[in-house]
Amino acid sequence: MTQTFDLVVIGSGTAAQTVASRCRSAGWTVAMVDTRPFGGTCALRGCDPKKVLVGAAAAVDAARLLSGKGIRPEGLAIDWADLIRFKRAFTDPYPAKLQARLAREGIVAFQNAGRFVSPTDVAVGESVLQARRAIVIATGARPAEIPIDGREHLITSDQFLDLPSLPSSVTFVGGGYISFEFAHVAARAGARVTMLHRDDRPLGEFDSGLVERLVSRTRALGVDVRLNADVREIRRADSAYRISATGHGGSIVIDADLVVHGAGRVPDIDGLALDAGGVRSSRDGIAVNQYLQSVSNPLVYAAGDCADTDGPALTPVAAYEGRVVAANVLEGNHITPRYEAIPSVVFTVPPLARMGLREEDARANGMSFVSHRDDTSTWFSSRRVGETCSGSNVLVEPESGRILGAHVLGPNADETINLFAMASRAGITADRLKEVLWAYPTHASDTPHMFG
Ligand SMILES: Cc1cc2nc3c(=O)[nH]c(=O)nc-3n(C[C@H](O)[C@H](O)[C@H](O)COP(=O)(O)OP(=O)(O)OC[C@H]3O[C@@H](n4cnc5c(N)ncnc54)[C@H](O)[C@@H]3O)c2cc1C
Repeated sequence: MTQTFDLVVIGSGTAAQTVASRCRSAGWTVAMVDTRPFGGTCALRGCDPKKVLVGAAAAVDAARLLSGKGIRPEGLAIDWADLIRFKRAFTDPYPAKLQARLAREGIVAFQNAGRFVSPTDVAVGESVLQARRAIVIATGARPAEIPIDGREHLITSDQFLDLPSLPSSVTFVGGGYISFEFAHVAARAGARVTMLHRDDRPLGEFDSGLVERLVSRTRALGVDVRLNADVREIRRADSAYRISATGHGGSIVIDADLVVHGAGRVPDIDGLALDAGGVRSSRDGIAVNQYLQSVSNPLVYAAGDCADTDGPALTPVAAYEGRVVAANVLEGNHITPRYEAIPSVVFTVPPLARMGLREEDARANGMSFVSHRDDTSTWFSSRRVGETCSGSNVLVEPESGRILGAHVLGPNADETINLFAMASRAGITADRLKEVLWAYPTHASDTPHMFG
């Protein structure tokens, strides 16, 4: 059976919801398709459930840091089963709530895989959805295939976030933000944690000096962070797994009850039969022009993690690209996305955050800049909570006073970075930022001291 809609959106995550709601509000008929329960990664398998778990780790850590400074943390522990139940209080009701909202708005939901059968048609089970005005691909990302013997033994981040119990030893393959965040949670929950990262630079997108400090803090927690450890094989060994890696100093063998994939994500586009739709793509995602429109099929647009754009794979970027696509399909191509000053956070405890350029980016762009690098662990904001791991690096262009980049590690870095992002995006210079009277004592009141 063929049904015709003005817009067919494939995916139901952040990008898809943004486009669908805006087009529906403008009076378009809209179909939304998702293979999995409606809601996408952020709400169900990413940012939100992850942050619930991080919240528990932060609570335990906060008490432990004040041990001997007014708090007796003995007996404090994470009850994993309780914590997962608490997490499910957020994730379990979400798909039904979203579907009810979509129904109220008049967006027609199809729970099934979508795939192109022609440049204008998407097959969903037995139905064919024909798009009159646009098809938006917003299918997100999935864990990358990694060339390791025994990779079938790896569990994904989806599974980690829903483990009914936490085994006593966990190994993470890869040293990206997902591994660091989960390792910090698992270690606080009492697991013996190992992380194997193939080169000497984990969290490569972040300020290298601050990453070094976070690695030290992670090791001090008891996490065995092995750099230059290239995982080659995962084998079942009795009831656990044996992980073999090659390292600079020879081979590495680790035994663990659980092995978690933390080695990157790629656009989830293989199941879309893109050839049938005349939609060009690469390993980096759907090939789009500056308006986020397919370079090969003008009816098709892409947004979020699946689109090959300069935007990082983050929820606010997916929402932003969704807004850009909605404006372009509704009013004709006229908006191009701006990707500068996007904040990004590793939600470890303490968190590491960045926005804008790193020193190496500014140098590569030939920009003149002054780097204000500080160890902030002696500052009141860190000392009063017993945190010894905190620092910052703020890059300012001397002629204009523009804040080119900010990097913050330590308590509240995940919030502080938003002030820098706002200043940078709104064109507020370092001097103007110093004129602000911040409430004291707060992390915001530290910010002017981070750049001179
Ligand atoms: C563990 C984890 C933690 C994260 N933490 C953060 C964070 O703290 N902050 C942050 O900003 N970002 C975070 N992210 C990234 C963030 O979740 C994504 O950038 C964001 O959700 C992408 O949204 P999207 O709309 O592009 O795709 P998604 O939300 O992934 O939605 C894509 C949807 O498309 C569906 N789909 C795929 N193929 C098909 C098909 N053929 N037919 C029908 N449906 C299909 C999928 O089932 C999925 O529901 C995290 C990601 C993970 C995995």
